[in-house]
This record gives sequence, C-alpha cells and structure tokens, in this order.
Amino acid sequence: MSDCIFCKIINGDIPSATIYENEEFKVILDRFPANEGHVLIVPKQHYSNIFDIEPALAGRLFVLATKIAREMKNVLGFEHLNVMQNNGTVAGQTVFHFHLHLIPRYENDGINI
Ligand code: 5GP
Ligand code: ZN
Repeated sequence: MSDCIFCKIINGDIPSATIYENEEFKVILDRFPANEGHVLIVPKQHYSNIFDIEPALAGRLFVLATKIAREMKNVLGFEHLNVMQNNGTVAGQTVFHFHLHLIPRYENDGINI
C-alpha cells in the first residue's frame, strides 16, 4: 500500500524506533506515546484491521505480544499494561494497517484510554 504510513516504515522509507523485528512483524515505539514505553506490534504484510487480517497471523502476532509484554515488564519494571487494538474510525483507528498497542500503566499515571 503506497500511501500507508506503516508500510512506509516497514519498507524503510520512514524511520522508526524499532525494538524488535522478525520475518513477519516489526515492533516499534509509538511516535505519539500514550504513556512511557508505548509500543506497536505491526505485521509486515498490509492488512487494514481485524476484519481482513489472516486469523493465523493474528494468532502469531498475539503470541509475540505476550513475549514482548513480558520482556518490557522486566526491562521497564511496570506492573500494569493495556493491550489495545482499534478497528474503524468510530473505534478510534487512525492508521489503517493492522497493529496492536502495548501501553504500560503506572500508578496514578492519569491517562484515559
Ligand atoms: P490507532 O489510532 O490506529 O489505533 O493507532 C495508530 C498509532 O500510530 C497511534 O498511537 C499513533 O501515535 C501512531 N503513529 C502515527 N503515525 C506514526 C508514525 O509515523 N510512527 C510511529 N512510530 N507511530 C505513529
Ligand atoms: Zn500498510
């Protein structure tokens, strides 16, 4: 998808802070983090959202999410985490390339997701 910002990140046309990468996924820092340590897990293949992603790929993405979440917990030392995934404008989706948010939560951080 030529006009997709996450495809451009995956192709290397736009820089990103990448914390992990394998053949299928890229894990990047959110450019406008809701909280310290906010990351996005992005499949390298373009799917708009949950309505068109290959189900088995979504399964592998969630397996990776558990591993990343535990590693982040160890490194950053938080105890709480939101896993978020938006589909469609009304649901808050702004980038139409499937992605999963991992958002660490801290006592009294005051953020409203
Ligand atoms: P959505 O609202 O679609 O669930 O989430 C899109 C996310 O992508 C937002 O949290 C937003 O901050 C993030 N984002 C938008 N543009 C960029 C970008 O160019 N680079 C990175 N790393 N994140 C982005
Ligand atoms: Zn894309």
